[in-house]
Amino acid sequence: MSSDAWDGIEVVDAHAHANRALVPRLLATMAAENVSAAFLVAGGVVSPMELSHTIVTEGPGRDVDADNAELLEAIEGEPSLAAFCFVNPHRAAGEADRKLVEECAGIKFAPGVHGIGHLDPRVQSYVDLAAERGLPVYSHCIGNGALSVESYARLAGRNPEVTFILGHAGRGNFDLDAAQEIRGAENVLFETSGGFDFVIKNAVETLGAERVVFGSEFPIQHPRVELTKLALAVAEADLPAVLGGNIRRVTRTRKGGST
Ligand SMILES: [Zn+2]
Repeated sequence: MSSDAWDGIEVVDAHAHANRALVPRLLATMAAENVSAAFLVAGGVVSPMELSHTIVTEGPGRDVDADNAELLEAIEGEPSLAAFCFVNPHRAAGEADRKLVEECAGIKFAPGVHGIGHLDPRVQSYVDLAAERGLPVYSHCIGNGALSVESYARLAGRNPEVTFILGHAGRGNFDLDAAQEIRGAENVLFETSGGFDFVIKNAVETLGAERVVFGSEFPIQHPRVELTKLALAVAEADLPAVLGGNIRRVTRTRKGGST
């Protein structure tokens, strides 16, 4: 039987996607890789090709809603799974959003899907909800303008009481700027999916291991790929924090969290 560097460590996936149909495969994959809990975002809002295209071309994005309710229903009986509410900032947070957020472990923005800048007041309305409920905020930043890491760091600076997570190692595979841009915003964590191992090493050196969190981006990426990368990039002594301890620290939910 093979052994992995993460054997014996509590592994918590800070970022994966699922819908009702994907939950059984996700649970089987988690069991095979010893991932004990996962924070999910509703998937399938736009096609993989459309998402890829808007990330590469920086927009324009569109007004589309994720099926958060379907995901919440699908994971209701699974104590190892919790959801981040995938909000649509084409409208400010309303009563329906507030109700959904009450059942969630965090809030997710996807500038590549919606094309709304981080400093837009409608985005702030959801950050206000996160602040009220003590929830973290996650965003997948793109480009150099309103959707960028730099604008996300400014949003975090305006909301020091909220924990923000920078998704996908910044702008993707080889982005050393991202860690520099969030360095001064101590309430921003760095999620590692998609970044080269060199970039992850750099993030730990720049930000400290306590600000770096494992995410898989399942089903676009297999968790074993990301875990293998982290086992190579992160010192053994830092693995418990990066693989699970840090995301546990910033989440307080009945399910998938630390209580
Ligand atoms: Zn994602």
